[in-house]
Amino acid sequence: MRPLADYHTHTRWSHGSGTVADNLKAGAAMGLEAVGIAEHGPRLLFAGVPRRRWPQLARAVRKRPGLLFNIEANVISLEGDLDVPAEILPHLDMLLVGLHPRVTPAGLDSWWAFYGLRWLALLSRRQRHRLYDAFTLALVRCVERQRVDIVVHPGYGLPIDSRELARACARRGTLLEINCRHARACAPDIQLAAQVKEVSFVLGSDAHSPQEVGRFEAGYQLVRQLGLDRERIVNVDWRH
Ligand SMILES: [Zn+2]
Ligand SMILES: [Zn+2]
Repeated sequence: MRPLADYHTHTRWSHGSGTVADNLKAGAAMGLEAVGIAEHGPRLLFAGVPRRRWPQLARAVRKRPGLLFNIEANVISLEGDLDVPAEILPHLDMLLVGLHPRVTPAGLDSWWAFYGLRWLALLSRRQRHRLYDAFTLALVRCVERQRVDIVVHPGYGLPIDSRELARACARRGTLLEINCRHARACAPDIQLAAQVKEVSFVLGSDAHSPQEVGRFEAGYQLVRQLGLDRERIVNVDWRH
């Protein structure tokens, strides 16, 4: 098999170790047609790229053909709002969206869900269900309201009903990511999502160093393990 493109990589702009040029070079060495620079949205604590730096990042990516200007945006409210700076939204090649537990949420009820309910859920089954329902709905609303290309690492960080998410993704033509960095943790969610036959998948390295760009081995292994139909994965040529 041959990876065709890796839409989810990080650089020093957030908390990766290489430059955008390093990721491009690594991708070219792997024979990739495209490498996505998908830095964390501004509201991810400790690693988000601050709002004012996005135009500069866009220029750095745009200078190099073969790179895609993507973002790994954060869901920051239970209504499915994202932290994409409005001024860069029209310039994005791909909108990647993920649920991360450590964000600065928008709105009181969202603060409560991210930082109150999440701890209560450790203590009670009822609260666990509430958390699960709230974040499933947040992600489904996000997919329904925004033009999302990929939902990254479903089920990693915060528990959700990935089958419900997969139904929304199938309706909207949104891809679900098989994240190679967190492949094992996401395995049960990918297995559930795969039951929705109409949804397609994309492999993503979530590289935090140039050496990891296009490295999909953990993803291939999961695809084999789950017996996933290879035709449902959009960015791998399985014949080579
Ligand atoms: Zn992530
Ligand atoms: Zn990432």
